[in-house]
Amino acid sequence: MTRYIFVTGGVVSSLGKGIISASIGKLLQARGYTITIQKFDPYINIDPGTLNPYEHGECYVTVDGMETDLDLGHYERFTGIRTTQANSVTTGKIYKAVIDKERRGDYLGKTIQVVPHITDEIKHRILQHNDEVDFVISEIGGTIGDIESAPFLEAIRQLKWELGNRAACVHLTFVPYLRAADELKTKPTQHSVKELQGAGIQPDVLVLRTEKHLSDGIRQKVASFCNVDLECVVQSEDLPSIYEVPVNMQRQGLDAALLRKFGVPVGEMPKMESWHHFLELQQGATKELHIGLVGKYDLQDAYKSIRESLILAGIYNHVKVKIDFINSENITKANVAEKLADVAGILVCPGFGQRGIEGKIIALEHARTHDMPAFGICLGMQMMVIEFARNVLGYNDANSSEMDAKTPHNVIDMMEDQKSITNMGGTMRLGAYGCELRKGSKVAGIYGTPKISERHRHRYEFNNKYKDEYESNGMMCVGTNPESGLVEIVEIPTLRWYIGTQFHPEYSSTVLKPHPLFLSFVKECDK
Ligand code: GLN
Repeated sequence: MTRYIFVTGGVVSSLGKGIISASIGKLLQARGYTITIQKFDPYINIDPGTLNPYEHGECYVTVDGMETDLDLGHYERFTGIRTTQANSVTTGKIYKAVIDKERRGDYLGKTIQVVPHITDEIKHRILQHNDEVDFVISEIGGTIGDIESAPFLEAIRQLKWELGNRAACVHLTFVPYLRAADELKTKPTQHSVKELQGAGIQPDVLVLRTEKHLSDGIRQKVASFCNVDLECVVQSEDLPSIYEVPVNMQRQGLDAALLRKFGVPVGEMPKMESWHHFLELQQGATKELHIGLVGKYDLQDAYKSIRESLILAGIYNHVKVKIDFINSENITKANVAEKLADVAGILVCPGFGQRGIEGKIIALEHARTHDMPAFGICLGMQMMVIEFARNVLGYNDANSSEMDAKTPHNVIDMMEDQKSITNMGGTMRLGAYGCELRKGSKVAGIYGTPKISERHRHRYEFNNKYKDEYESNGMMCVGTNPESGLVEIVEIPTLRWYIGTQFHPEYSSTVLKPHPLFLSFVKECDK
């Protein structure tokens, strides 16, 4: 008897639907239910893999190798679930599936239309988790009124009708505060709900985002204008940390309101001990620790999972990590010492293309020669390898063949099976691969296990031709894929903490289980 919760948003974008969806998931889990959360994105790309981070923020990768929206990162970090390609659906994916079926002849004789063919495909994606879990939470990207999200709303309307009290809609809106009038305004919420009702959907619960506390009178006004019970109007005030949102929602009875709507006995409010323990740690972690994030995208969302992983690792190390973004395009040999003067360590970011890589290399040279903790992720690890080739092995022209296809010392080279690829979308080495750790290495000690599995997203790789030369000069290849022999981790064991991973550990760090590499890196930075 799976039940379905649809999360929609109105008035403005960026209200935090992902955080609310993840919080609902967390609260239902705390009551012993199994859940999954999926994201519907109304754009036509099949996935965000080909999108610029400036357009879309980070591209999050699932274990089964789907490039997805960063909201899936929130889902995993909050709830500990492992999402798959079924948790991420775009308009592009829906249309492609329908058009592929049409070409195959599945609909022979029929005219293919938005209703019912596109909406049926959307409904199929929502219902595919039927009986797998107690609750499916489906977050609909975009804002009510967008042309793009209309088919998704129609699919929800139909499902709400068909599923009766097995479906509920949580609608997120914004209540602006007008300083000049010193008033909180509910009209945009009323309009947004009207728009939703116009699409045939009555919201069951309203979550009002607000900068200031809403009085009962305001909530009552919204309730009566929108045909929603007062107890189903909850407010989501700005909080110092997104991780306080689940308990804030619980305090206002969001999960209880949903259960009542589904006709499920509500029972005791769960204690959420481990979550509260985490929040206490967070509150106690006041000592600031500055870590430099060396990358090229000066946009919070571009390295979302890395930022959250650092912050979480800080909390468990009793420090408040302050992330200093250092734009690698502006790093030069002349200013590197000054740029890194105030940070305890650097994390060199993943990325694609030439822009900003020389600055990353200069920053890494500084970290290596000054024994400053450094963590390289994906492109960051590749830059560690190139820096070492240029400045230790003496190959001044060493490079990745991504940046210089003709370099005589291609210490980072395109993977063999990538060479024949012509389509850019969804064709990188994606998803989780196994990795064996060398006995006695730093990373083996950090992980505490000889075999790990981590998520990847890249086309280029350490060139094994140079492996012996690296090792005899002090950079060790301490993590390898057992099937392909690809080098997945390098470290310089003689330094305090100098580790690069070809994979992305940030994707699997969660609130209750932060990633061991991040924990260890932050701990070293704090020494
Ligand atoms: N551009 C590099 C590659 O394709 C690194 C990718 C990344 O950092 N995710 O191998």
